[in-house]
Amino acid sequence: MSGEIYAQALSRLDKAASYAKINKEAVEKLKFPKACLEVSIPVRMDNGSLRIFTGYRVHHNDLRGPTKGGIRFHPNVSLDEVKSLAFWMTIKCAVVGIPYGGGKGGVIVDPKELSRMELERLSRGYIQQIASFIGPDTDIPAPDVYTNSMIMGWMMDEYSKIVRRLSPAVITGKPIPLGGSQGREDATSRGGYYCIKELEKIKSWNPKKMRVAVQGFGNAGQFIAEMLHRDGYQVVALSDSKGGIYRPQGLDIPSVIHVKNKSKELQAVYCKDSVCEVVDATRITNEELLELDVDILIPAALENQITKKNAPRIKASVIVELANGPTTIDADDILKEKNILVIPDILANAGGVTVSYFEWVQNKSGYYWDLPTIHQRLHEIMLREFKNVFSLMESHKTDMRTAAYIHALNRHAEAVVALGTQDYFSAQTISRAENVTA
Ligand code: GLU
Repeated sequence: MSGEIYAQALSRLDKAASYAKINKEAVEKLKFPKACLEVSIPVRMDNGSLRIFTGYRVHHNDLRGPTKGGIRFHPNVSLDEVKSLAFWMTIKCAVVGIPYGGGKGGVIVDPKELSRMELERLSRGYIQQIASFIGPDTDIPAPDVYTNSMIMGWMMDEYSKIVRRLSPAVITGKPIPLGGSQGREDATSRGGYYCIKELEKIKSWNPKKMRVAVQGFGNAGQFIAEMLHRDGYQVVALSDSKGGIYRPQGLDIPSVIHVKNKSKELQAVYCKDSVCEVVDATRITNEELLELDVDILIPAALENQITKKNAPRIKASVIVELANGPTTIDADDILKEKNILVIPDILANAGGVTVSYFEWVQNKSGYYWDLPTIHQRLHEIMLREFKNVFSLMESHKTDMRTAAYIHALNRHAEAVVALGTQDYFSAQTISRAENVTA
C-alpha cells in the first residue's frame, strides 16, 4: 500500500517522543519530507531499443545541514521506500552528530540485467534529471544497495559537466583518484565493528567463543565478516541473495571472499595459496540463517528481514543492524521481550555516512587525510555516540533503538528551538538580548 512503509517508519518517532520531553514542533516537522522528486530516465539500450526508467530523489529534512544519503538501484525501489530511507538518514546523521539532514535516491532497475555501458548511461541519465535538485551545499548523494564507487564517479563527472566546473563535493563514495576518501569502502562495516568492540568490553566477551551469522555478502557483509574473523570471532554462517552456508566450526572468511569475488558463488572453502578446497558445510536459506543458534546476528542486506513471524525464533543475544531497516516495528517488541540487544541501523551502520562526511570536508577544503586519520576520527565519533546511546538506554530503561531516536530528536530539537518555536513566539516577556535600542 502506498505510504505504508513511511507511516511505519514514523511510528518509531512517536514512540521515542513519548519517552522524552521533546519539543512538539520538532517532532511534527520530521513527519513531512521537505521535497520529493520523481523523474523518468530514457536510456538507449545496447540493442538499439529505448527503455524509460523511473527514479526518485527525496529531501527529508535539511535543518541541521544539507540533505545526505545514498542512491539505490533495485527492482523494488518505490517512492514510499525512498522517503523512509531519507527519514532514517535524517535520524542517523543526528545520532552521530554530523551536520547533515537526510536524503535518499533510487531507480527502479535490476542492474544485474544491464551491460556496463547501459549502467553508465542510466547513471548519467539519472543525474541529468536530478541535477538541479542536488549540489555540494544542498543535497549530496552516495552509494547504497547495488551502486558502487565507479557509479559515483560517473555521476560526479556528469554533474560537473552540467555545472561546467569540477564538483567532487556533490557526491561521496567516489573512487580515490576522483576525490574519494581513504577508508570509505569499508566504513559502514567499520562503524558497526567499533560498536561490537565496545560491547565486547562491556560484556567481557571472549571473541573465540562468540558465534556470528551474517545475512548479506555485499560490501557491508564481507567487510564485517572479515574484521570479526580477524579478531578471532567464529563466523559460522553467511548468505547472499541466492541462499547461505552454515559451518558450526566456523568459516575461513578470506577464502570465502576470494572465491565469491572470483566466481560470484558463495561457497564454504579453504584456500591455501591459490588452491581452494571445498569444506563441509550445510546449505541454508536466508530465513534459516536468521534463526541459527548464534550469539551475534548481523543483517547486512535489505529491509524487513526480522518480522513478527520469525522474531520469536531468533536465538542470537545481540543483533547488529548493518542494513537499513532490517527489523519491522512489531518485531522490535518481541526482541525486547526476549531481552535481545539490538544495535539499531541508525547507529550501527552510521560509519558509512560519517566517512562520507569526511570525504565531503576533504573535497571542500582540497586537503586529503591519510587512512589512520580517517580511522581515528571515525572511531572517536562512533565510540562517543555508542556511549551516549547506551547510557540513554539505561537511564530511560528502554531499548537501544528508542534511545538512539531520543538522542537524535534531542539534537534535532536543539536546531528547531534555535529558530524559535511556539514557546518563544507566544511569550509575553522580552529577553534582555532582544531589548536592544541602540
Ligand atoms: N547509503 C549509506 C547509508 O544508508 C551511506 C549514505 C552516505 O554515505 O551518504 O547510510
